[in-house]
Amino acid sequence: MTAKLFKGAEYLITAATKDDIFTPEDFTDEQKQIGETTAQFVQNEVMPHRAEIENHDFGLVVQLMKKCGELGLLMIDAPEEYGGLELDKATSMLAAEKISTAGSFSVTYSAHSGIGTLPLVYYGTKEQKDKYLGRIISGEWIAAYCLTEPDSGSDALGAKATATLSPDKKFYLLNGTKQFITNGSFANLYTIFAKIDKEHFTAFLVERTAEGLSVGPEENKLGIRGSSTTQIVLENARVPVENVLGQIGKGHKIAFNVLNVGRFKLGAAVTGAAKYALAEGIKYANIRKQFGSPIAGFGAIKEKIADLTAAIFAAESLVYRLAGLIDDKLATIDKNIPNYYEVYQKGIEEYAIECAIAKVFCSEVLAEVVDQVVQIHGGYGVIQEYPAEGFYRDERINRIFEGTNEINRLLIPGMILSRSMKGEIPLQREAMKAVEALMTPSMDELDDTDPFAAEKALIANLKKAFLVLAGSSVQKFMMALKDEQEILLAAADVAINIFAIESALLRAEKILPSLSEAKKASVIAAVKVFTFSAAEQTATAARKAAFFIEEGDNLAILLGGIRRFTKYDATGLLAFKRQLAKAASEAEKYIF
Ligand SMILES: Cc1cc2nc3c(=O)[nH]c(=O)nc-3n(C[C@H](O)[C@H](O)[C@H](O)COP(=O)(O)OP(=O)(O)OC[C@H]3O[C@@H](n4cnc5c(N)ncnc54)[C@H](O)[C@@H]3O)c2cc1C
Repeated sequence: MTAKLFKGAEYLITAATKDDIFTPEDFTDEQKQIGETTAQFVQNEVMPHRAEIENHDFGLVVQLMKKCGELGLLMIDAPEEYGGLELDKATSMLAAEKISTAGSFSVTYSAHSGIGTLPLVYYGTKEQKDKYLGRIISGEWIAAYCLTEPDSGSDALGAKATATLSPDKKFYLLNGTKQFITNGSFANLYTIFAKIDKEHFTAFLVERTAEGLSVGPEENKLGIRGSSTTQIVLENARVPVENVLGQIGKGHKIAFNVLNVGRFKLGAAVTGAAKYALAEGIKYANIRKQFGSPIAGFGAIKEKIADLTAAIFAAESLVYRLAGLIDDKLATIDKNIPNYYEVYQKGIEEYAIECAIAKVFCSEVLAEVVDQVVQIHGGYGVIQEYPAEGFYRDERINRIFEGTNEINRLLIPGMILSRSMKGEIPLQREAMKAVEALMTPSMDELDDTDPFAAEKALIANLKKAFLVLAGSSVQKFMMALKDEQEILLAAADVAINIFAIESALLRAEKILPSLSEAKKASVIAAVKVFTFSAAEQTATAARKAAFFIEEGDNLAILLGGIRRFTKYDATGLLAFKRQLAKAASEAEKYIF
């Protein structure tokens, strides 16, 4: 347990300390064991078969899923009374991180154990769980989640699929088409969303053998080619009334709550993929010689390796900080209450903002990593025999599914403002204080005994910048702010970077005393290198927002404030980058 349980979005208005966050260094032996089992499974069982999997050997994929089940890797989130392990989110995120190196197979795994299984765990009746859950968590059956339709992706509630009660009231007849369904071709159980009487958005558990359900052809994709993606076509598909999942008309709750989980797990998964890709990039840089020496010795390559290492350190710090927040919150819930999963869902929803941040930030770190790893490989980066080419293709989807990064970015300020309006966080009061600080310039006195004094001052200031921007935009646009997407996106970038810098810094502060001198130097370097680039990005986003919001004297005041609030002294930056690159090149992997 951490010292103080922060509410969702509270990080923007309250200073957190190192004791308030969970870090990967806090993993217990049991958690590490599950991570190790997953990594071994990937190494021994999946990697030797990557080519067959990429060539759509789905029979093999199904067998591997069964092996995953035998190892207990499909039951991490399932309740003990149904044979599950019911472990914390940090553990399921660690498993997601470790399985991510399996590429396409990890998408099959994630869809099955996440969006495929969790609707049943959270919303299923005892009878439904008795009937299906054992088969799903053992890997005997594969699960899929069918929300998207050809005409409704981001606008998921615009779904057209319908459900009509049969005259004998024993079945619902489902009609419509579901699009881009992961595990579509070999799943045995589909969670399908459709509107009863074209109105009441509802989830249904539909067996593959249901009369009227058919599977479309495999899509030919840019990446993750060894995962199955198909349409699911429903033509009067007969679904017994007892297979309605959750309440009629409350399907949106299932759809969105499960996506919160999908987002933080995706954050962990893409962080694992980034570590793996970086290691390949570093190894290649060490062996590839040009101009008579390994390219790893050139400053241009060193800088890439340093920047990527620092960015992954931030992603990892952020995503496991979120795991700690969620686990601490869920640990406060009494398992014996009758509406346990309802309260549990609310517990996760509390951190919906941080879940969206994790999805966006970590997927974009991976995007940068794979892009630069291709670049490190030069021409070989685009040749299929080299892994960089596959990393590059496989990465792209992560910025699209589980809510596109635009949709997730829009959700961040949207939810912050709605919580403020409901009085859940005192944003308005804090924004007024920040405006006062803007008007009364003061010099930051830095504690020169603290290696992170500059970063701490920066974080406190960035929070003020966010609050001032939030205050100005609300004042100017009031309720119409929700339609000013360009402003919301810029505000999201400020909020995301604050969480990322703070997570990296607090983790570093927490682990520093236990590290060797060499490791200490690397951790400090990672924080400095990441903070510099994130502060620059935050300054750009904040300035952009200021130009979008204000003009004239108000604009000048706002820009002056942003200049002051985003100031960061990165003295020694080059030495930090070289130090970090040296440590990573020597270790030939992600070093933290
Ligand atoms: C390989 C793969 C696997 C998938 N697996 C599943 C699955 O298992 N189950 C499932 O249900 N779905 C799945 N999906 C669907 C996926 O979740 C959607 O593709 C995604 O939500 C985006 O929807 P869309 O493709 O219709 O794009 P659109 O919603 O049409 O978006 C197109 C563009 O417009 C932007 N946009 C849309 N609306 C807005 C708005 N209001 N404001 C600003 N910008 C906006 C988007 O950000 C995007 O850039 C999968 C997709 C793929 C490609």
